[in-house]
Amino acid sequence: MPSRGVIVIGGGVGGLCAAIALRQAGLPVAVYEQAEAYRPLGAGLSLWPNAMRAFEALGLAREVASAGAPWRETVMHRWDGKVLSRLAVEELCRELGQPTVALLRAELQQVLLRALGPDVVHLGAACTGFHVEGEEVRVTFAQGQEVSGDCLIGADGLHSAVRQRLLPEARPRYGGRTSWRGVVNVASEMIPEGSQFEIYGPGARFGICHLGRGPEGMWRMYWFLLAPAPEGGRDAAGGHQEAVLSHVRGWMPPVEALVHATPESAILRTDIHYLEPLPRWGEGPVTLLGDSAHAMVTDMAQGACQAIEDALVLAKLLREDSNRIRALRAYEARRRPRTAHIAELSLRAGAIRYVRNPVARWARDLLMQALPPSVALKQLRSVVGHDFLA
Ligand SMILES: Cc1cc2nc3c(=O)[nH]c(=O)nc-3n(C[C@H](O)[C@H](O)[C@H](O)COP(=O)(O)OP(=O)(O)OC[C@H]3O[C@@H](n4cnc5c(N)ncnc54)[C@H](O)[C@@H]3O)c2cc1C
Repeated sequence: MPSRGVIVIGGGVGGLCAAIALRQAGLPVAVYEQAEAYRPLGAGLSLWPNAMRAFEALGLAREVASAGAPWRETVMHRWDGKVLSRLAVEELCRELGQPTVALLRAELQQVLLRALGPDVVHLGAACTGFHVEGEEVRVTFAQGQEVSGDCLIGADGLHSAVRQRLLPEARPRYGGRTSWRGVVNVASEMIPEGSQFEIYGPGARFGICHLGRGPEGMWRMYWFLLAPAPEGGRDAAGGHQEAVLSHVRGWMPPVEALVHATPESAILRTDIHYLEPLPRWGEGPVTLLGDSAHAMVTDMAQGACQAIEDALVLAKLLREDSNRIRALRAYEARRRPRTAHIAELSLRAGAIRYVRNPVARWARDLLMQALPPSVALKQLRSVVGHDFLA
């Protein structure tokens, strides 16, 4: 374990990208991850052109893109199949010079771990706290060991131990809904290749996209359902499928068929939480990155993309300024307004998507049909086309 260098707590997308970017900036880095092993997670992730631009800067764009499938168009439907609108994602991607890619999280993790190579990520290391001693930051772990370094990056997600020590009053808020996610290999395409379907019903939203090819040329499909539920709710043992079906029975094909085809063990249920913008992200040689700093509701599909942007900006500023504490404060000043803005857009998008009342739904659907696609593309461009490294 290093005695100097950058200590990253959390080996999720944000922590691994930060480690790659910091190493490329010439800084020694070590990642400490609480999990004992990386398990293949049955969930998909969409990476928009802002994230793909970051991967290009890291020299990983080709590998990331080939691990998933391109996302070219979003087609929004009412639950009974009526098309409400279409978003030409490919047009925007062409303009920005980067694709949008949907892939299995576990495959992204493997690409990042391969890029880091051995000996950087320490598994089974759950951070419990830290203290700053002169020039050093000392980090403690549940297993009793301690490490020291020049900087500490808390990339330890929604329930961050680093954030709890920095800002004990900051608590994640429940977004009012839960998510179910499934990945399944199927013999037929089910929806046109390159399309992402969004399907809106009473209080709920169902999404479907391809994640590339599975074994024996099968189609690897990802679906998710977001629906209101009490916080901390659980499905009965073996009851994920039934819980999902109770929201989507009678919805347009292939919704029910996809859910039926997905084994129970391939369905994940996760409550949606977010953080109100934090008053600060760090002090001294300590800062936060990714969900630990700005967990957001999923409605812009930007949580991981923003963690990846954070990683690149942090590494750039640490490379450019030998005063590491000044560099960390500059990173926070750069990233806080952008992430707060996207978190706010995500909340606003969520506010109209999950309405239950029939009149409100009718008005929402009319609005979706009337809104020129150019307006939606303009908003999306401001998020995914932003030059975050400028
Ligand atoms: C249903 C759903 C769909 C989503 N879809 C998208 C999408 O399409 N696109 C997108 O960009 N984002 C999406 N997101 C958001 C995205 O998943 C998160 O924003 C992203 O994973 C954040 O990355 P992170 O590295 O900051 O945190 P995490 O991915 O949560 O990683 C944190 C890591 O820290 C580790 N850790 C935690 N505590 C400790 C500790 N004390 N010590 C050591 N290690 C610790 C954890 O084990 C974990 O590995 C979605 C989220 C949900 C819930």
